[in-house]
Amino acid sequence: MRCFYLPDYYYPLPPTHPFPMEKFPQAYNFLVAEIAGLEICPAPLASVEDLRRVHLEEYLVKLSHAGLSASEAFRLGFEWTRELFVRCRYETGGTVAALAAALEDGLAANLAGGTHHAFPGCGLGFCLLNDVAVAIRRLHTGKPGLRVLVADTDAHQGNGTHAIFREDPRVFTYSIHVEKNYPTIKEPGDLDVGLPRWVEGAGYLGQLQDTLPQAVEKFEPDLAVWISGADPHEDDRFGQMRLTSADLDARDRFVVSLCRDFEVPLAVLYGGGYNRVPGMTARLHANAVKTAFDVYHGR
Ligand SMILES: [Zn+2]
Repeated sequence: MRCFYLPDYYYPLPPTHPFPMEKFPQAYNFLVAEIAGLEICPAPLASVEDLRRVHLEEYLVKLSHAGLSASEAFRLGFEWTRELFVRCRYETGGTVAALAAALEDGLAANLAGGTHHAFPGCGLGFCLLNDVAVAIRRLHTGKPGLRVLVADTDAHQGNGTHAIFREDPRVFTYSIHVEKNYPTIKEPGDLDVGLPRWVEGAGYLGQLQDTLPQAVEKFEPDLAVWISGADPHEDDRFGQMRLTSADLDARDRFVVSLCRDFEVPLAVLYGGGYNRVPGMTARLHANAVKTAFDVYHGR
């Protein structure tokens, strides 16, 4: 299983960044220690040509050198730096590579990515670039008829991705999230499952099992991109859900088994995670990748 990874030194962050980013090296260390068959590949830099298929030129100029205004930085959630843009280009390149690898091998992961709140002309909610949209548009340049399912199980709606692909019948956007949580303004996707705040595992899993299979059966995707999300966990700061670690394991196994049963190649991405317990976000992201590996190897 090919896993794309940004070396730690591509994680320079501005001093005002609200969250430590140790989750990336921590999850990497879990995975390397626990799975013998992983092939760790360096994430390539996403080309400007790739970014331009989704993002507006005016926005890319700001990201590369002009900088963001105070209000733009506020909506993004952190200060802009040149280094941050470079880091996000590598993160996006990892997703581009992971989708291509999933199509070739049946399963791959980017050990980052899933920045689903970014729109063509602005960053939102800690998401500078929409890596998922950039990667799908890149695939469509060579395979224009490819049908892609975006399965978003992060606790927040994938509003940027929904908006970008609204008019594209080749992309089916699915999101299961808390209805009254960030983002305040939801963008309609192809199938949205809005749940009450503080939903528990049984309620969440019941809804997931009732809805995601329909999307796979009706749409018949050639590729699934799974934004897994560690933030539905009960100890997350922002998810407003109450799933235990065992519930998240059940979620992961359900999503991956569904793709395997329908023989849909799968690319796994992290999405968000802001757990109060040190190390837990990394543990949950690593678990999603590990479950994917196990299920595809019949375990
Ligand atoms: Zn989230």
